[in-house]
Amino acid sequence: MGADILVVAEHLEGKLAPATLEIVAKGRELAAQAGGSAKAVLLGHGPEALASELASYGLDVLLGDDPALEAYSGGGYAQALASMLAASSPRVLLLAHTAQGYDLAPALAASGDLPLVTNCVDVRLEGGSLVATRRLLNEKVQAEFEIGSDRTYVVTLRPGSVKPATPTGAGAVARVPMTIDGAKALPRFLRIERPEVSDIDIASADVVVSAGRGIQKKENLALVEELAKRLGGVVGASRPLTDMEWLPKTRQVGQSGKTVRPKLYVACGISGAMQHVAGMKDASLIVAINTDPSAPIFEVAHVGVVGNVLEVLPALLKELRG
Ligand SMILES: Cc1cc2nc3c(=O)[nH]c(=O)nc-3n(C[C@H](O)[C@H](O)[C@H](O)COP(=O)(O)OP(=O)(O)OC[C@H]3O[C@@H](n4cnc5c(N)ncnc54)[C@H](O)[C@@H]3O)c2cc1C
Repeated sequence: MGADILVVAEHLEGKLAPATLEIVAKGRELAAQAGGSAKAVLLGHGPEALASELASYGLDVLLGDDPALEAYSGGGYAQALASMLAASSPRVLLLAHTAQGYDLAPALAASGDLPLVTNCVDVRLEGGSLVATRRLLNEKVQAEFEIGSDRTYVVTLRPGSVKPATPTGAGAVARVPMTIDGAKALPRFLRIERPEVSDIDIASADVVVSAGRGIQKKENLALVEELAKRLGGVVGASRPLTDMEWLPKTRQVGQSGKTVRPKLYVACGISGAMQHVAGMKDASLIVAINTDPSAPIFEVAHVGVVGNVLEVLPALLKELRG
């Protein structure tokens, strides 16, 4: 059951979590750097189909099946993983930095007396040593830390930091016998309660046209709305606009809003404060319109237009309408 890299899969309602495919990709990369193998752990009750799906991403899957693992519980998962960790002593135990990952990772590190490195945006093995990249000081600074080489390290990787794995051919699925003490699998899962969806999800849009304070008046948002519509996209915003309630909070892009990765992001009158950029810098194509040629948004934009949005947007719409 030994593996150099052990990736902990997450799933909900019969679907693998998107962040799991990202840590699978990173796990495979780390295994290549270690000259070894990566395996994934999938826990649940009767999750064979999911295990086969996971194995299609090119790594072997260790399947832990127990009624106490039917739904995620920190206690149940920690018990199952602690026994797998003891048996395999991987170099890296990799989890996604999700609500589940940051519930589980510290518990595992504490129970095995293992070092824990959280919320990494990248991680690699260099000359046998683990090097983690993390963002510090409110995302202003990106720092690399050489962590060490002599232990099993528990690492969580921030979702959206790496490209998800694509299927590459089937690995093997092996059932790992385990007994979970249900009484210790606390807290217990009761039910899923979903928030009412009151607006569109900007995080899943291919095109996001965002307005910032440079738009000047709420009425001018009509220009941004029309551009978004004509490009088949949705309207996003910087924080001041949602604070002023010109747009709902669900449209806010940035550190305290949503992270978006659209194919096209158009920033209209947005300065490019780091808290905003944190939520959109990974868009494939960034177009920025700003009157100030030294606005920081131009540092991340692929296409920059120095101009007044109230002139540029009408001109652009005229072209698109024609
Ligand atoms: C803890 C914390 C969390 C935060 N989280 C977020 C977040 O999630 N998202 C977010 O966006 N912000 C966030 N902020 C706020 C952030 O720091 C900035 O204040 C905010 O992003 C600025 O928004 P803005 O660019 O629209 O406005 P401004 O900074 O006021 O910039 C307006 C820009 O418009 C340009 N402009 C003016 N007139 C025109 C015109 N006619 N045509 C074209 N350009 C024009 C100006 O040159 C300027 O660059 C956060 C701040 C903190 C402290």
